[in-house]
Amino acid sequence: MSTTPTQDYDLIVVGFGAAGVSAAIEAADAGARVLALDRGFGGGATALSGGIVYAGGGTPYQQAAGVDDDPDNMFRYLQQEVRGAVSDETLRRFCEQSPETIAWLERQGASFQASLAPFKTSYPTDRHYLYYSGNEKAHPYRDKARPAARGHRQIAKGLDSGKVLYARLKASALRKGVTFLPHSMVDELIIEEGVVTGVRYRTADSATLGPNYERLSLVAGKLGNWAPAVGARLSAKLATEWRRAARSVEVRARGVLLAGGGFVHNEEWMDRWAGPYRDISPLGTVGDDGSSISLGLSAGGVTDHMDRMTAWRFINPPSAMTEGISVDGRGQRIVNEDLYGATFADHMVRSHDARGYLILDAKQWRKARRQTLSQTNTFQLAQQLYLYTIGHEKAHDLAALAHKLDVPAAELEATVTAYNAGILSGKGDPAGKARELSSTILSGPYFAVDLSVKNSLFYPAPGLTLGGLKVDEETGHVLNESGERIEGLFAAGRSAVGVCAIGYISGLSIADCLFSGRRAGRTVATVLDSTESSAKA
Ligand SMILES: Cc1cc2nc3c(=O)[nH]c(=O)nc-3n(C[C@H](O)[C@H](O)[C@H](O)COP(=O)(O)OP(=O)(O)OC[C@H]3O[C@@H](n4cnc5c(N)ncnc54)[C@H](O)[C@@H]3O)c2cc1C
Repeated sequence: MSTTPTQDYDLIVVGFGAAGVSAAIEAADAGARVLALDRGFGGGATALSGGIVYAGGGTPYQQAAGVDDDPDNMFRYLQQEVRGAVSDETLRRFCEQSPETIAWLERQGASFQASLAPFKTSYPTDRHYLYYSGNEKAHPYRDKARPAARGHRQIAKGLDSGKVLYARLKASALRKGVTFLPHSMVDELIIEEGVVTGVRYRTADSATLGPNYERLSLVAGKLGNWAPAVGARLSAKLATEWRRAARSVEVRARGVLLAGGGFVHNEEWMDRWAGPYRDISPLGTVGDDGSSISLGLSAGGVTDHMDRMTAWRFINPPSAMTEGISVDGRGQRIVNEDLYGATFADHMVRSHDARGYLILDAKQWRKARRQTLSQTNTFQLAQQLYLYTIGHEKAHDLAALAHKLDVPAAELEATVTAYNAGILSGKGDPAGKARELSSTILSGPYFAVDLSVKNSLFYPAPGLTLGGLKVDEETGHVLNESGERIEGLFAAGRSAVGVCAIGYISGLSIADCLFSGRRAGRTVATVLDSTESSAKA
């Protein structure tokens, strides 16, 4: 390995996903020289994502779709999701800036639409690009804020929205003069007298790695999400190839941003932190191995909310699935099923031993099947087909169903009776599910779907880590144990504590990456401005 000469930048971005690219654009707009390094091709989890951006407060798309929202309403809703992960002041800023975030994304080439999904879904079809992507309409959230659809989806087919969103942001960054080096893994921070002044990284040229490397990396990335063991084996083989081709480089800058994602692919940290979430199928890329967070720790940074995870156990689409009820291993009701899938899973994981079943009667099951083609996207269809064929239990009465599930029959019957009684009496579901999604469970045969959080190939409960480095909410600087800023060091996105560090709803992670990435980019640009003006004086 050789060492090449030092280069100078204003900002070095470690990890070129949503957070890194947003910081790079913001800093480059202010005239900063930016170097972005990514151990992969760039894009990270962002490019694999559903491309949903949580935005509200009266965006043009909300207005065009007739959705009544304002920043204060958005704040009152999000306060319930955020639960103090960031201060109220920061959350207010996030909500106030939200319409501008959409305008900013459009200036970088992103595109959205006001086509509002008319039914409850965890991800809209290709006819819809605006939807209720969280708990806005569900009890108890709806009692504190007017329900407003805020899930803005980048226009693209199927699951390409994330890929397109990242591609537009990356293209914009490159147009603005950002230098981007893929296959460049940052191993170490350069720290001089307590100030972070640069990084040491290993890099390999695309030409040396060859076209097969790129193709296989893409395959490994996809497999990593849906068949983790196979994906990990292929990634390990590719990593050996990369190590052989890599050379070491040292580079300096006024600021280093850690934007290398989370740690769902770090087995040791998952053993330490995940607790009841240990069986989620890891979402993201091999880059989510916590190395970015480790870099922050090496400079004296501290972490928070490392035990917070999100697991996606989506009951819908089709929306009629939500009409069934969820019970735990004791036959007791879990929670209202119209909650967002990750919120539902959080209740199941934390209070019901991560075990649950969705119980439906024959009419609900038939209704769900009828809705399937019109309400599901292609990737959801495969999962529904699994549920309708081999992925369910069926029995002529509830006692027989309980027996198959190994759940106490008397408890299950009592739970269903209480639910039916609420609906038939006109009082509504005792657990508070919306009336339009509550129907009786009376007509056999009865069906059950296993909702438990476990790593299954056909019906996985995928998940992400939410905690990370503590940062100064004004500037994005990484904080040390005494709560002081570490000069020259910033963190953003899933490497940092942000708006979604305690609870995730669809779109909130990318929205937080944009918010925290741009904040760090602006801080570096401000330092630059003040240095230039003092140099001129
Ligand atoms: C299938 C899927 C669907 C999702 N859908 C949504 C959605 O619709 N909306 C939403 O808000 N969230 C969604 N999420 C979550 C969201 O995509 C991520 O939480 C978010 O994109 C993380 O962004 P980031 O910038 O922090 O990290 P990433 O986008 O993961 O980028 C980090 C980058 O850092 C690189 N890196 C890591 N370590 C190093 C190192 N040491 N040196 C150099 N480079 C390094 C990685 O290679 C990677 O490219 C989804 C996630 C997945 C996987």
